[in-house]
Amino acid sequence: MTRSSLLRIFIAIFVVQGAWVVYTQKPKPAGPLRIAKVRGDLYVISGEGGNVAVYVTDEGVVLVDDMFDRNHADILAQVKSVTDKPLKYVLNTHQHDDHAGGDFKMLPIAEVIAHRNARANLVDIKQPYYEDTPGTPIGLPRVTFSDEASVFLGGREVRAKYFGRGHTSGDAVVYFPQLRVIHTGDLFLGRQAGRGAAPAQNRPPGVNIYVDYAQGGSFLDWTKTLDGALTMLDFDVVIPGHGPISTKDDVVKFRADLETMRNRLAGLIKQGRGKDEVVKTLETDYGWRSTGCPLTPPTPGCLQFQQVDALLAELK
Ligand SMILES: [Zn+2]
Repeated sequence: MTRSSLLRIFIAIFVVQGAWVVYTQKPKPAGPLRIAKVRGDLYVISGEGGNVAVYVTDEGVVLVDDMFDRNHADILAQVKSVTDKPLKYVLNTHQHDDHAGGDFKMLPIAEVIAHRNARANLVDIKQPYYEDTPGTPIGLPRVTFSDEASVFLGGREVRAKYFGRGHTSGDAVVYFPQLRVIHTGDLFLGRQAGRGAAPAQNRPPGVNIYVDYAQGGSFLDWTKTLDGALTMLDFDVVIPGHGPISTKDDVVKFRADLETMRNRLAGLIKQGRGKDEVVKTLETDYGWRSTGCPLTPPTPGCLQFQQVDALLAELK
């Protein structure tokens, strides 16, 4: 190969990389949203990002999560479609920007409340998660709590409870006691179509979770955290972080599958199997992705994005 053709290849690589950066930094247009009744005066907005709960009371509206920054105007429009009451409070289940990305725009019009670790993660990481475009403005909640916080509005209570680490170090489960409903954030995900090599029905029990070790997540603590919600809260309907409205039984099954998967992976590691073998198991048996993943931007479902080294270290 001549020097000039090598040079041309290098130039081509730079051009492609440059185009990729420009492409990935272009703001995504907001996707369409819809609102549906969950129970009583409680609704859920979905369509992009995480599920947003909308609780309508005589004195105003309480939201749980507020999706991406780009969804802000539509979130307000969806709320307006079911009530004229003013928006008063936003409770964050955690700081990822598909759930709390709208905080910056909510702060001037509502009180935003989050677990103190979720706020600290936002301060430390200085950018709300991987998924949104660079430059998503950070809105730091003005009110935090360590164990629990309740909002009492119009004779209704909305209670945010902290049961420990899991998806991050600041996951709150939000409880609507009068309705016996919880919003789990990403501690629990609704049934999703299988993806990856093996068809979902042929896989050993497991879950398609994301442990955000960079923001204090823990695979080991996750089941204990779910146990807290399952034993201390009286509920039967569940709004998951993502996916369709679910039941308490769905959470119980999710927790069992999580434990089975974790024990199997920990077993492989204790047998001295290397990282490659564990990664292969995650790909073929659980549908996680480790191939075809660009280093930037981090891509959902990709193992390096799922911080597999930290996962291996924790399960050792
Ligand atoms: Zn999340």
